[in-house]
Amino acid sequence: MKAHDGMYIDGAWRPAAGPGVIEVVNPADEQVIATVPAGTVEDVDAAVRAARAALPGWAATPPAERAARLAALRDVLVARQDEIAETVTAELGSPPKLSQTVHAGVPIAVTGSYAELAATYAFEERTGNSTVLHEPVGVVGAITPWNYPLHQIVAKTAPALAAGCTVVVKPAEDTPLVARLFAEAVHEAGIPAGVFNLVTGLGPVAGQALAEHPGVDLVSFTGSTAVGRRIGAIASGMVKKVALELGGKSANVILPGADLARAVNVGVANVMSNSGQTCSAWTRMLVHHDQYDEAVELAAAAAAKYGDRIGPLVSATQRDRVRGYIAKGVAEGARLAAGGPDSPHERGYYVSPTVFADVTPGMTIAQEEIFGPVLSVLRYTDEEDALRIANGTVYGLAGAVWAADETEAVAFARRMETGQVDINGGRFNPLAPFGGYKQSGVGRELGAHGLAEYLQTKSFQF
Ligand code: NAP
Ligand code: MG
Repeated sequence: MKAHDGMYIDGAWRPAAGPGVIEVVNPADEQVIATVPAGTVEDVDAAVRAARAALPGWAATPPAERAARLAALRDVLVARQDEIAETVTAELGSPPKLSQTVHAGVPIAVTGSYAELAATYAFEERTGNSTVLHEPVGVVGAITPWNYPLHQIVAKTAPALAAGCTVVVKPAEDTPLVARLFAEAVHEAGIPAGVFNLVTGLGPVAGQALAEHPGVDLVSFTGSTAVGRRIGAIASGMVKKVALELGGKSANVILPGADLARAVNVGVANVMSNSGQTCSAWTRMLVHHDQYDEAVELAAAAAAKYGDRIGPLVSATQRDRVRGYIAKGVAEGARLAAGGPDSPHERGYYVSPTVFADVTPGMTIAQEEIFGPVLSVLRYTDEEDALRIANGTVYGLAGAVWAADETEAVAFARRMETGQVDINGGRFNPLAPFGGYKQSGVGRELGAHGLAEYLQTKSFQF
């Protein structure tokens, strides 16, 4: 058990204002592995002041120099990749291989992409008799969840720094350790004091204080819809910019003629990865009625294979929420084809990989985000029916389409109300804009679109 102290504010670890601490629990064995300080309004205020003081200097730093600092940060993350992966495994419970490739690997790729974008982005352009400047929005308050704890921080911090903004991060209370590691990496990379600040703490205390602080110009939030709505209300009341990355209930549409086994296996892997704690997971699999029974059988077999390889959920609360949804699925008449509410382990917050068949579009498990290893398989009669079901939720974050050929899959994907679609198993692209239609959010992260979120325009007429 390690008791950490201090908040990373103005380039140094400073004692927290209050005595409160947060216990960090390893969800695989339920042991307390560390404590971090629980930040208060005073800590948030100190961090925002530091970020404001650092803003003019960082905003005026030439983009090439900002790019060089981001490249240095990427190199530090590479050098500390093993430590990052071990930390995420300890506080989130993800299997070591996933921690290496995704939890540590993706932030390296994203930081690298912003080092490049900072160097090449057109921060100034001409249109007619005007010069348009793309200037940093100012001080960014970033509130992040635990599901991809480092990625969520990097997906906000790297573009903000590339844009010339300064940042205060409030990470999730369940996963503050990798956030502290990131602050150390920022320091090692030579990013000037005050440009990046970290305040660990509870959402309703430190998170809310950050959203409400008049010195914050843009609030970027990823997490639940309930909290996102509150943040949006606070920000609009104060006329601040806001970016919200909320939940999802994405559809994996398998059209007749697709490689069924591949579409089902990749779909199950997509849902079970990270124990289902992925906002963009394809948690609804849509299959034509002629292929329905075969698809359910394949999905159940694929899920059963995951049995031992899946990590726990992040917390007891999250496990209980997921079990509640499984019970609700059964109560509403869906059929368990694999898994169920029982834990496969004696200790740890585990839930078995679960597949529900005979799920109809109106059921709770087909509408609400479960955030656990639970897949619902739905049947459709024809393409129009599939489209209605795919678009029939309040969310629109991601999705997938499988068809005999790309043209057919793309034609369907064009009609989907969602921010990202993988065509016949397309690969992750860290440059592609990520974000939601409908209630999945406001704004985009990653790539050039993610950078533009942190910029505002000024135009000179000649
Ligand atoms: P959450 O409560 O929305 O947490 C997200 C972040 O917001 C955390 O840093 C949290 O702090 C903070 N927060 C909580 N209440 C706040 C408030 N009143 N003001 C300002 N900040 C506040 O999400 P959660 O409880 O961790 O997870 C609940 C559900 O959210 C999940 O089951 C899932 O459906 C959804 N979720 C979505 C994503 C996504 O990527 N879209 C990620 C995670 C969760 P604390 O850590 O102290 O609560
Ligand atoms: Mg919470």
